[in-house]
Amino acid sequence: MRQSQLFVTTLREAPAEAETRSHQLLLRAGYIRQVAAGVYTYMPLGRRVLRKLEMMVRQEMEGSGAQEVLMPSLQPAELWQESARYDVYGKELMKLKDRHEREFVLGPTHEEVVTALVRGEISTYRRLPVTVFQIQTKFRDERRPRSGLLRGREFLMKDAYSFDTGWEGLGQAYERMYQAYERIFSRCGLTYKAVLADAGAIGGKGRNHEFMALCEAGEDTLLICPHCGYAANLEVAEAEACPQCGAGSLERCQGIEVGHVFELGTVYSEKLGASYLDAAGRSQPVVMGCYGIGISRLLSAVAEQNQDEQGLIWPEAIAPYNVHILVMSVKEEAQRELAEALYTQLSALGIDTLLDDRDERAGVKFKDAGLLGIPVVLVAGKQAAEQKLEYLDRRSGSKEVIELEEAVRRVSRFRA
Ligand code: ATP
Ligand code: MG
Repeated sequence: MRQSQLFVTTLREAPAEAETRSHQLLLRAGYIRQVAAGVYTYMPLGRRVLRKLEMMVRQEMEGSGAQEVLMPSLQPAELWQESARYDVYGKELMKLKDRHEREFVLGPTHEEVVTALVRGEISTYRRLPVTVFQIQTKFRDERRPRSGLLRGREFLMKDAYSFDTGWEGLGQAYERMYQAYERIFSRCGLTYKAVLADAGAIGGKGRNHEFMALCEAGEDTLLICPHCGYAANLEVAEAEACPQCGAGSLERCQGIEVGHVFELGTVYSEKLGASYLDAAGRSQPVVMGCYGIGISRLLSAVAEQNQDEQGLIWPEAIAPYNVHILVMSVKEEAQRELAEALYTQLSALGIDTLLDDRDERAGVKFKDAGLLGIPVVLVAGKQAAEQKLEYLDRRSGSKEVIELEEAVRRVSRFRA
């Protein structure tokens, strides 16, 4: 992509309402724009990061045996009455009526829709187990939308649901999802901790873990035992000493909940009548698990953890582009030619490359590159006539002058 044509405007100052660093930087670097409180447009750069996250999540979900579906945002109120959540879910639930005065909700989650789906599709133990997932827009009328994508009113979630004949099968599905989550968050370069969480409103006897991105800006407080690694949400671990090893004091830190895995059991299948016939011909409720990842929240959690005073620093796996080529002066033919040749070569290799071909001062280009946070920056400058470039590692800040061929060799790890 040529930056001269890229639909983006970088901002010198962050709008006053942006509280957290990730929110400020995503706005300043032109990744997102606000439409209403808690409602955002993803600009081309933001969309690319979101898409890379989606692809990674999809790959790990399919790798763990889950099948992709797409359920609607528009959901009939009757389903929510059946689960008895229509009234108790509270003001976060966005309600509306169609032209015939029928009541609907904009889905904040999909337990109701998916359980009704399984109720219609599955009648015998022979068709179980099954796990489905979707990557889909959710609506929650949050009381206090904040920090940009961290708490939106419209946001992107991956939600998966497992269906088994019993708790043993559910346990296995839960383990598989838990492991897929570990792989996803590691691949994103996230520093995180899985913590025991409170079963909360849904209740039940199942296990329940939250995946927390560790950072100061997080709204959740976690307690971690430095001796045995026990970690729990503040609501769960109220004791001063570690409930697992008994050691002295638990350490407190802040986190952003990026994912949640939950053994639901039969709470929804009983309410909505999703049952199957077992081998003896008896009717049994399907045993369910649900598993969420806030994909848009994850994007900003990664941004919160990966930045410096200049701007964002994307981990390679989800960067909008892998390589950023800067032409120091487009008026210098040698610089322009070298950059164009490199851009053509890298594009042909399938490496996502952004070429700063704008007629701007070098200072402006370096500043924007620092803000945008593409991991490798290649600068065509004074030594361009000798086929030499500056190789700049955005994260470490290290700089080196290298030959064109060497530059191509180094970035070939990004080949599609
Ligand atoms: P929170 O306590 O932060 O409100 P939650 O417990 O309501 O989260 P879940 O219902 O478990 O969240 O939803 C699954 C995932 O969706 C969460 O782990 C989180 O990553 C994401 N998520 C939830 N609410 C929002 C929101 N308003 N904006 C962005 N992501 C969200
Ligand atoms: Mg919530």
